[in-house]
Amino acid sequence: MEFIDNIRYKKIKNAVGRAVADFGLIRDGDRIAVAVSGGKDSYTLLHILEGLRRRAPVKYELVAVTIDSGYPGFRSDVIASYLREQGFAHHLETTDHYDIIREKRRPGSSYCSICARLKRGVLYTLAQKLGCNKLALGHHLDDFVETLLLNQFFVGTLKAMAPRMLADNGETTVIRPLVYVEEREIIPFARENRFPVVCCSCPVCGTADLQRRRMKKLLTELEKENPAVKRSLLRALGNVQPRYLLDRELQRLCDVP
Ligand code: SF4
Repeated sequence: MEFIDNIRYKKIKNAVGRAVADFGLIRDGDRIAVAVSGGKDSYTLLHILEGLRRRAPVKYELVAVTIDSGYPGFRSDVIASYLREQGFAHHLETTDHYDIIREKRRPGSSYCSICARLKRGVLYTLAQKLGCNKLALGHHLDDFVETLLLNQFFVGTLKAMAPRMLADNGETTVIRPLVYVEEREIIPFARENRFPVVCCSCPVCGTADLQRRRMKKLLTELEKENPAVKRSLLRALGNVQPRYLLDRELQRLCDVP
């Protein structure tokens, strides 16, 4: 594994180390499938977990996994040869998801929701098949706070993402070790290390959906007044005061008899 070991790397590694400790993300004996899509976030996640693994007091294994959904032009070969060069164990799974999406997607509905659902299912199955008890995903701090805002503004629920949760298959634990890492730290890290970023080549490749773009824009605006706004939103997720919310179930739990 070769990459530039500089202050940025240390900063990201420390943030991941904190998340691992805060949420108990990694335990002795874990075998972790790391989803590598070919994007900057997943390469960063894999490298950082490997960096931590080499010095960790606990023993764990990593297996990079990539899903090729069948979008024409997807350069899974670039990902595979880079990971091989870097010495990572890697499994590439080719699926017919593009055909399924073309057949099943209702006109006007989002590509991403059906594509992501199919991919998630395969990742869980693959993790089990490869003997992995955990699946690591590359969602970072910005994904957490954007999802929080999206859910509040458009869905009417107070919900973001879980740093650690048991998947629907009841077997695999999904972990998101980049929860404390901002996207603006990942972008230069990926560039400096010349990660061979490949486009997913789907029909909406590179275009975050409109509502998510609006959240990004809103956060950028708010940051002009309060540079710590994203950190504050993330802190809010870990500082919930149920008595001051309107959820009747939570109210019942908080009621003094
Ligand atoms: S951006 Fe493309 S590859 Fe990614 S979830 Fe959406 S449709 Fe799938």
